[in-house]
Amino acid sequence: MKTVFVVGAGPAGLFAAQKMAQAGHQVIVLNRDIKPGGLAEYGIYPVKDKMKIGLRKQFAKVLSLSNLHYFGHVPVGSESAVTIDDLRQFSPAAMVFSVGAQGTKSLGLPGENAKGVYSAKDFVYYYNQLPPFASRDFSTGKRIAVIGMGNVAVDIIRWLLQDDPNRQTEEVVIVARRGPFEAKFDEKEFAHVQMHLDRQLFQQELERVKDKIAAVGQDISKVAEATFPALVKYPDQELVMPRLTFRFLSSPKEIHAGPDGRINRLTVTENLLVPKNGGTASKGTDQTADLDVDTMIFAIGDVHDPKLGLPCSRDGYTTRPNPEDPKAPVFEVFDPKKNEVEPGVYVVGWARRASDGLVGIARHDGEVGAEKVLHYLESAPEGAPVSPQAVQRRLESKGVKVVTKEDIALLGKVEEREAQKRGLVSFKFSDDESMLNAIEKEKSNACVSAD
Ligand SMILES: Cc1cc2nc3c(=O)[nH]c(=O)nc-3n(C[C@H](O)[C@H](O)[C@H](O)COP(=O)(O)OP(=O)(O)OC[C@H]3O[C@@H](n4cnc5c(N)ncnc54)[C@H](O)[C@@H]3O)c2cc1C
Repeated sequence: MKTVFVVGAGPAGLFAAQKMAQAGHQVIVLNRDIKPGGLAEYGIYPVKDKMKIGLRKQFAKVLSLSNLHYFGHVPVGSESAVTIDDLRQFSPAAMVFSVGAQGTKSLGLPGENAKGVYSAKDFVYYYNQLPPFASRDFSTGKRIAVIGMGNVAVDIIRWLLQDDPNRQTEEVVIVARRGPFEAKFDEKEFAHVQMHLDRQLFQQELERVKDKIAAVGQDISKVAEATFPALVKYPDQELVMPRLTFRFLSSPKEIHAGPDGRINRLTVTENLLVPKNGGTASKGTDQTADLDVDTMIFAIGDVHDPKLGLPCSRDGYTTRPNPEDPKAPVFEVFDPKKNEVEPGVYVVGWARRASDGLVGIARHDGEVGAEKVLHYLESAPEGAPVSPQAVQRRLESKGVKVVTKEDIALLGKVEEREAQKRGLVSFKFSDDESMLNAIEKEKSNACVSAD
């Protein structure tokens, strides 16, 4: 039996951990958040209860493995109390990083620090109640620009149009650098918001861009069947307010703030569509337009967090080059400065490829990565035995309040009771303090009843 550290308890990390524990190794999972689940807990849309509850059950099953240990509330990073070098001091036989993509793609625009400008990841964390985002100001106004045309953008729009209890939304405008044929959201997801689409304004917008997209051979009359099937499926749909509109072939150029420091206007560059590598690309012109918006949320994908401390390039954490088969997934971390693989260090899930796919894909990636680790372990040096209790003590000596899997089970009980009391399907505490207090209280109640 060898010891593997898994850093990050989202779907990729947990399913990788399960595979390695089931193969008989001792697995120690360290996670930044108190609760396991990553984006499955704090990203998936709040009303998708069935999916979330199902995943929570699967994660609880993973944590129940006796040779798998969980230490939550432990951020690892070069600027954190616990660094990767601290973990190396335990000499684990391997380390798997499954930390997702926690960095934010900067827009690099003048004015981007204005109030009311948010990255999609932060906004999603906020409405899914991940501390500390849950208690920060993510106020939205009446006219909101959402930048991007993927499923994350649609989730955010859904929140703004339907589910935000504090919403003041009158209009959400989706700003996309390319055209209607490049929309990336799934039909199923867009169906949740299609009734808000102002069909009249949408037709006007198609008319506005039709000549420009014809330049790459796109025929505007085919948009409905290609990327907006809701137009065919619900031809008589009446507009449900607040309204949803689109602004195609437009890239944010400058954010303007009012005297209160909040965004009040967005200047966009008008783009052309040009052919590129068998697909299309946007090409800026010198023409601009102004959109009156008081909130802007950019959903343009995420990047890896360089502060984790793994070797990192522009494309994220670096993995072993594989010129023979550039498309094959590579899990081994590679240090370009030393020009060598870091032995026994792996990345899986979104930590390997940022923003890549759904939970099922992250799970698969975690499991395939775990197979590579298992193969490596067959010939890896035995190393000194690692005691989970010693790891916990060392983490705590660094001022970290470690949350164990037993604590998570107690927290789950408290949250279940709260949900019942409030008549909710599920309940979540929105700050770390409340979760830690709830765990402590539950522990002391258990002691009293045992006395
Ligand atoms: C808005 C949104 C909605 C989505 N909706 C769906 C959906 O409806 N259905 C679906 O199937 N998929 C959905 N997905 C995709 C799905 O959530 C991902 O595929 C999956 O969660 C990726 O798993 P992961 O384990 O690689 O990363 P993550 O889920 O991001 O997990 C990363 C884990 O690492 C931990 N961590 C991060 N940094 C550190 C650190 N420095 N030290 C220690 N721990 C760290 C985090 O606490 C977290 O637990 C959605 C994604 C987003 C963003």
